[in-house]
Amino acid sequence: MSAREKIAYLRGLIEGQNIAENAGMSKFHEALLGAFEAITDELDEIASEQADMREYVEDLEDEMMSIDGASENDAYDSEDDAFDEDEDEEEEYEPATCPECGKDFFYQPDVYDEDEDLLCPHCGKPFKQ
Ligand SMILES: [Zn+2]
Repeated sequence: MSAREKIAYLRGLIEGQNIAENAGMSKFHEALLGAFEAITDELDEIASEQADMREYVEDLEDEMMSIDGASENDAYDSEDDAFDEDEDEEEEYEPATCPECGKDFFYQPDVYDEDEDLLCPHCGKPFKQ
């Protein structure tokens, strides 16, 4: 039985048994029951505020989680981008064949000027692209 049910039961006992035959006792019982009912009202209010608070905190936690998730994703994306740029700048190779020794090799066009000679890694001779 909840406190509210117990008080309702008490009220039923008092009213049913007709204990309060004189006005003074009736007032006493009414005040007593009124006090109990006021307490349960306040308890209910506190309980519902607590439920609201818990809901609010849970919402807040969800929000924090999604913010965390978003920032982690951003960090991951930007790392990805940086990695792609490195790849473009440092790992783009073009095939070339040395006219001196006839061997194939790969060179990075980004590190050569357009009219700069290529250096063959096999025989070390410079030649035009
Ligand atoms: Zn060569």
